[in-house]
Amino acid sequence: MAMDEKTLDKFKRLLLEQRKKLTGSYERLKNASSEEFGGDVPDINDEASRTVNRRILLEIGDKNYEILNQVDEALGRIDSGTYGICDECEEPIPGKRLELLPYALHCVECKEKLEK
Ligand SMILES: [Zn+2]
Repeated sequence: MAMDEKTLDKFKRLLLEQRKKLTGSYERLKNASSEEFGGDVPDINDEASRTVNRRILLEIGDKNYEILNQVDEALGRIDSGTYGICDECEEPIPGKRLELLPYALHCVECKEKLEK
């Protein structure tokens, strides 16, 4: 059964907040890095900025980058009307789990199975 609009809206806000936090630290790192170039924003294609980008990715960490992808995926699911449905068994993910982890794509059972 589809989630009601009010609940969906609540999770959408949670996801957008989380996204802001994640991209916020990304932007801060990017700004900090460009200051090292004396205020010049390097050309996107040059070697120096590629190095900076690699460093930013290292600093926000694979974990945060992964979460950011999951948050984006969850937001896409809200738009397509499949949010809150387990990607594996297609059963609804319990609301309690989504409150802790609004970007969860799997129910606890499937998540545990997938991690094994
Ligand atoms: Zn499942």
